[in-house]
Amino acid sequence: MGQTGGTVVAEAEGRKTEQAGAGRPGAEGPQLAIQPPRGTHDILPAESPSWQLLESAARRLFQVSNYQEVRVPIFEHTELFKRGVGETTDIVNKEMYTFSDRSDRSLTLRPEGTAGVVRAYLHGGLHRMSPPVKLWYAGPMFRYESTKTGRQRQFNQTGVEAFGSAGPLIDAEVIVIALRYLQEVGAESCTLQLNSIGCPLCRPAYRELLKARLAPRLPELCGDCQDRFQRNPLRMLDCKIRHDQERYLDVPLAVDHLCQECSDHFQQLKDLLDRQGARYVLNPRLVRGLDYYTRTVFEVVSSDHRLGVESTVCAGGRYDNLVELFGGPPTPAVGWALGMERLILLLGEKRVPAPEAFIVSANQAEALRLACELRATGIACDLDFPSRGQARSFGKQLQQANRSAARWAVILGDDELAAGEVTLKNMKTGSQQRVPRRDLAVSLKDRPAGQAPAEERPDNEPETRTS
Ligand code: ATP
Ligand code: MG
Repeated sequence: MGQTGGTVVAEAEGRKTEQAGAGRPGAEGPQLAIQPPRGTHDILPAESPSWQLLESAARRLFQVSNYQEVRVPIFEHTELFKRGVGETTDIVNKEMYTFSDRSDRSLTLRPEGTAGVVRAYLHGGLHRMSPPVKLWYAGPMFRYESTKTGRQRQFNQTGVEAFGSAGPLIDAEVIVIALRYLQEVGAESCTLQLNSIGCPLCRPAYRELLKARLAPRLPELCGDCQDRFQRNPLRMLDCKIRHDQERYLDVPLAVDHLCQECSDHFQQLKDLLDRQGARYVLNPRLVRGLDYYTRTVFEVVSSDHRLGVESTVCAGGRYDNLVELFGGPPTPAVGWALGMERLILLLGEKRVPAPEAFIVSANQAEALRLACELRATGIACDLDFPSRGQARSFGKQLQQANRSAARWAVILGDDELAAGEVTLKNMKTGSQQRVPRRDLAVSLKDRPAGQAPAEERPDNEPETRTS
């Protein structure tokens, strides 16, 4: 995760500023009686601007691409994931947070998004809508796995799922959206890896070929791979153990054993991607961890060292049989999921947004009123909230304004109140100017960042004023 160091979190107008709780969790804080669970991470103010940026960019891109949002439960019946993700996967075998509720139902915190979205698609009758049905989702997922950089037990995925179109055009669309998104948010050094793993027509013959090649090597392989050999040999190629990977270097590859239809589909997808200027590398060993994939599989991998070994940012593919497996009509589908924490790691530190204005006044009620007036016009502003309740001196309040990194202090003294005016102080230059209170919002909006007021006079009075 992109923890950012220390409590100094923003540098606005050349001034170091601090914000409460903005620093790295536990870096300087007290020894807590209760620690956060392993593999979880608080998103504190130093990091939340990056999340907001990523989330709003995704929302905008999905909207212009005509994908609609779905929000599905965070827990589901365990059976959903057993069936949808597959009994032979690491997720189902080792990683699920499964518990019994008070009525002894077996429930599981969702480890991924697709199974829940497919269930909602059927339960909500979306399969009766005219295809394609193009959906997106975002939210936390839960997997019990060993934690390290880029791998947590609660992590966030943003994903798309497009139902009802079998042709490669929609594979190309979802891939192009993922690449566009990564480009837009500034995640460089990403490469699209592409493969096709065939369909229920051509895969059984390939599976037998693979088994025949691997059977003699079985005793040398890890326990998981010996199990996969029986249950889902394709997934052996996804083994993370290097010793095993080395035994798979010369195995037959799915892409060389596709039926004509799968082969055409793959060729057309590659042509379509070429036409969009989307670069990819073919990775014939790419199989993906989940059981339900058919034909297209892909991953977007980053070479950025900040991700360590966990270099896959986005992963997806086609799953033409999953809807039927859940009791729906035969429905082709394709989608991807992107790991947001890994993206945050790639993007590094972002600045914490500062308020535009900070109200300084001995009259707390009027200060709050003025803040609300400005906020109602869309101007971000704040005021002093002293720990002891009573208004502090102007000097102290101006210090607070400085710490908040606000561009302007809006000073509302007795004189200003009586005259229906405010004093606007440029926190960078120290220059100040009286403006009618009713013109304040327009005056702030008209003034681009850092621009000095038209009529300025030297900064002296407010700093020495006392409440
Ligand atoms: P791996 O084989 O590395 O475990 P996976 O097949 O389990 O990957 P997916 O289920 O395809 O991964 O998840 C899609 C994306 O979600 C990943 O590429 C990654 O960016 C992110 N992701 C998956 N698991 C985690 C995790 N434990 N912590 C953070 N991000 C994760
Ligand atoms: Mg995994």
